[in-house]
Amino acid sequence: MPTYDKLELLIGGEWVSGEGRAEQPVVNPATGETIGMLPHASKKDLDRALEAAQRGFALWKNVSPFDRSKVLRKIATVIRERQEHIATLMTMEQGKPIAEARLEVGSAADLFEWNAEEGRRAYGRLVPPRVAGHRQMVMKEPIGPVAAFTPWNFPVNLPTRKVSSALAAGCSVILKPAEETPGAALALARAITDGGLPPGVLNVVFGIPSEVSEYLIASPVIRKITFTGSTAVGKLLAKLAAEGVKRTTLELGGHAPVIVFEDADPEKAAEASVASKYRNAGQVCVSPTRFYVHEKLHDRFVAKFTELSKNLPVGNGLAATSKMGPMANPRRIEAMESLIADARDHGAKMTTGGGRIGNEGWFWQPTVLADVPLDSRIMELEPFGPVAVVNRFSTFDEVIKQANRLPYGLASYAFTESVHTAAAVGDALETGMVGINTFQINVPETPFGGVKESGYGSEGGTEGLDAYLQTKFISQV
Ligand code: NAD
Repeated sequence: MPTYDKLELLIGGEWVSGEGRAEQPVVNPATGETIGMLPHASKKDLDRALEAAQRGFALWKNVSPFDRSKVLRKIATVIRERQEHIATLMTMEQGKPIAEARLEVGSAADLFEWNAEEGRRAYGRLVPPRVAGHRQMVMKEPIGPVAAFTPWNFPVNLPTRKVSSALAAGCSVILKPAEETPGAALALARAITDGGLPPGVLNVVFGIPSEVSEYLIASPVIRKITFTGSTAVGKLLAKLAAEGVKRTTLELGGHAPVIVFEDADPEKAAEASVASKYRNAGQVCVSPTRFYVHEKLHDRFVAKFTELSKNLPVGNGLAATSKMGPMANPRRIEAMESLIADARDHGAKMTTGGGRIGNEGWFWQPTVLADVPLDSRIMELEPFGPVAVVNRFSTFDEVIKQANRLPYGLASYAFTESVHTAAAVGDALETGMVGINTFQINVPETPFGGVKESGYGSEGGTEGLDAYLQTKFISQV
């Protein structure tokens, strides 16, 4: 077993741990073994992080976008050099196959490069005046110190999306990554400081999530809140942010529909769907979860999906042969047990899977449920696990109604050979992202974000930088 890094806090450029701080164990989900002890930040630590972020902001906002860009590029290089080490830490603490972890670290380097470029383009504009000689200037400036909260499913990509955009805009950050997956996030923070970011511009803390978020969001130092996680927690943080009228970006849950129209190839659609469904054991906010397949293709689609699911190699993510690792924590096992039992009680057919694999770690079989009644809980709740629901439909209007019926609006997908249907479905789906004949909806150049109860604001694309900028108008006579 490779060694796991020492876990610390990063405050004002110093790495700290011990000294009587509370600690919690970090567990490898493939083995159930404790691999590290994570220190929690005390109130004093949080105050020091806030002071550091304030000082860091005063310094970093005055570094030119050109020079900030050089630091961000250097950070991308350091991340690439350490790709294997960071990916290994991630697999040890989160469970995903090492190949997925490597891709995630590579995408973090890409994001830093994208933001290194984008930060140089925080353009304002000149508005023609009514009186000759006057100047009307619209300026973009960094919003201020940011509090960023990230979950355990993408321990490197999600902190990077927030931190790289905030740094490119000239903001400082206090990051609270998930306590369950701190090692890879800290290795990312080390790459950032080693890449040349001045002390205090990035601070990393851990603790009891509700206590840390309540304390940081209430501080007058913090001007922007960004969170990725469940809709329930997002609503809570939005209320706290509203108290101080603070800007907020929320990337929350989803329950992505996939529509397979009558003119699609059901076997090809099933192959693409299986690859996407079981990525990160289904613990992905844009994971395809509700499959609606035209009634003429339904049985062929289910047969192919079932065959591929049965043969998917599941095992410790560190083994090169594993295509799916364990679930990240035991809460997901409980959720799978209860959602699948409830669907079967309501009359759903299970064509494969449905149980735990072994007693060591938290492995769950790839599972397919067909003809799932609408009143099953899995038709309402984000499953966040390796389970696919496949139902049948007959008309365009009926399937759009089904796809749009939940409060979620993050991602949706459709398969069709018809340009006409592709255009119509792209217009009709009420989600922030739509993939047509593809599950690829997430690259640094494009905006990522939801509508309805899946949140507001986008990360990535030109929108990602905007989230950390505010507008100032100067009228000069
Ligand atoms: P959860 O809702 O308690 O936690 C989700 C994340 O939010 C965790 O990282 C947690 O540390 C953090 N969190 C919780 N309370 C917080 C608070 N008051 N302030 C700041 N951060 C807080 O539950 P969970 O069991 O970890 O995950 C359950 C559900 O969350 C999943 O089923 C899924 O729907 C959703 N989730 C979504 C994403 C995503 O990428 N959008 C990621 C992880 C979890």
